[in-house]
Amino acid sequence: SKVPTPANEPVKEYRPGSPEREALKEAIKELRSKEVDIPMYIGSEQVFTGNKIRLSPPHDHQHTLGYFHEGEAAHVHQAIKAALSARDSWANLSWESRAAIFLKAADLIAGPYRAKINAATMLGQSKNAYQAEIDSACELIDFLRFNVSYMTQIYQEQPNSAPGIWNRLEYRPLEGFVFALTPFNFTAIAGNLPTSAALMGNVAVWKPAYTQVYSAQVIMEVLQKAGLPDGVINLIYVDGPVAGDIIFSHPEFAGIHFTGSTKVFQQIWSTIGANIHKYKSYPRIVGETGGKDFVLVHQSANVDEVVTGLLRGAFEYQGQKCSAASRAYLPESLWPEIEAKLKEQVAGLKMGGTEDFSNFINAVIDERSFRKIAGYIDEAKQNPAVTVITGGHYDSSVGYFIEPTILKVEDPSYRTMCEEIFGPVLSIYVYNDEAFDDVINIINTTSPYALTGSIFSKDRYVVEKVTKALENAAGNFYINDKPTGAVVGQQPFGGARASGTNDKAGSLLNLFRWISARTIKETF
Ligand code: GLU
Repeated sequence: SKVPTPANEPVKEYRPGSPEREALKEAIKELRSKEVDIPMYIGSEQVFTGNKIRLSPPHDHQHTLGYFHEGEAAHVHQAIKAALSARDSWANLSWESRAAIFLKAADLIAGPYRAKINAATMLGQSKNAYQAEIDSACELIDFLRFNVSYMTQIYQEQPNSAPGIWNRLEYRPLEGFVFALTPFNFTAIAGNLPTSAALMGNVAVWKPAYTQVYSAQVIMEVLQKAGLPDGVINLIYVDGPVAGDIIFSHPEFAGIHFTGSTKVFQQIWSTIGANIHKYKSYPRIVGETGGKDFVLVHQSANVDEVVTGLLRGAFEYQGQKCSAASRAYLPESLWPEIEAKLKEQVAGLKMGGTEDFSNFINAVIDERSFRKIAGYIDEAKQNPAVTVITGGHYDSSVGYFIEPTILKVEDPSYRTMCEEIFGPVLSIYVYNDEAFDDVINIINTTSPYALTGSIFSKDRYVVEKVTKALENAAGNFYINDKPTGAVVGQQPFGGARASGTNDKAGSLLNLFRWISARTIKETF
């Protein structure tokens, strides 16, 4: 069978007066008007433990969106059990049936659930309408549709045979269950990590970030509507270490699909290593972790392109993308013009809640994050070798708001140039035009990460030199564009070094990790 050839879901613009804008506003109003009560989904059960954790919009923390029911160790055991008892029927279902479920889920999000999932992402994660649309609608839809098509490509890949011999490869799911541990910053990633493994015939235990539960529940609702059988994906909210202790010492633990911090991923890797003798198989370890993504500007660059790239790359979704432009290297010759334009344009960025569609900047995810980012800003303000070019103020009285902040640093190894801040803070190092080659080296050596990066230049020799010299510094490399906004099917996403295992989300490479092939040789 052939599956429909996927095409990227068109991004809706939500122009004033458009029907999609009205529908989205209506969905926001409705979600704000009632308090939801969100259970865990384990096997065929919706589990309400009574241990309720409050959910509120990061930009309006006094408002209650509802509560989710936190679980404990027993629920982790239950979720694993539910997954394992669903495993055989799910693994033996035809791939067409599995594909149909996820294709239907994509259609549901593209149609009747679009407004609801976007509204949930806007309220729960403080994303503006455009950021929600490219994430919880388009990217999630694309992941689902493109993965189905990649799956069929994998299944077609077969070895040669010989006279009297028929060789074949059987693409079996992993033996056991997959653990999906997902982040707050992309609803699409939260949806992709459990579903990509499940598409390949695996069962999963899914633990989202507590700050993303509000939209995770909508994903679960969609999957159930699409006909996902009970137990294939089990959604639990349990404290990380409690869940980890049980999952990583289970004999049927078959793999982890992770997006989150480098620190947590390294701890998980060590735990898996320490428990390796307990497992039936070597677990698949797939993780996308942090970033400290660079923008390198050459004197031949177009200034307007640079300014747009910096502002969008650094400040969209308050800099809370692993791919966010967070360190920039600008030539002295262009700096005065770039500085003036940055100041002027940052002044025009409106900050506030997501309910007002004219706000470009919304809140950062929670108080912990707010304090961490504010700490970096305060320290920078005290440092005589740092100049605050824009922003520098923050206020958490209504929501966790931090102004888009640009710091100019004298020392290219100052901490805001090397450490991941995960907030709206861009650090700039201005270099002498003659020292371009030194700057390439600085970029390559001052941060442990290698997720994304950009070069802005109109000189082909320069572009080629930098592309080669920084080949290990970014898994996604952009020429004359911002380092964010990878599109499924166009720019497979992921990085190496401290940024992850580089198993490119939404690609053949990623799906290969969720199968364990059997070679069958038959002699006639
Ligand atoms: N894929 C997203 C982008 O290209 C980033 C994903 C992440 O933050 O993990 O901007």
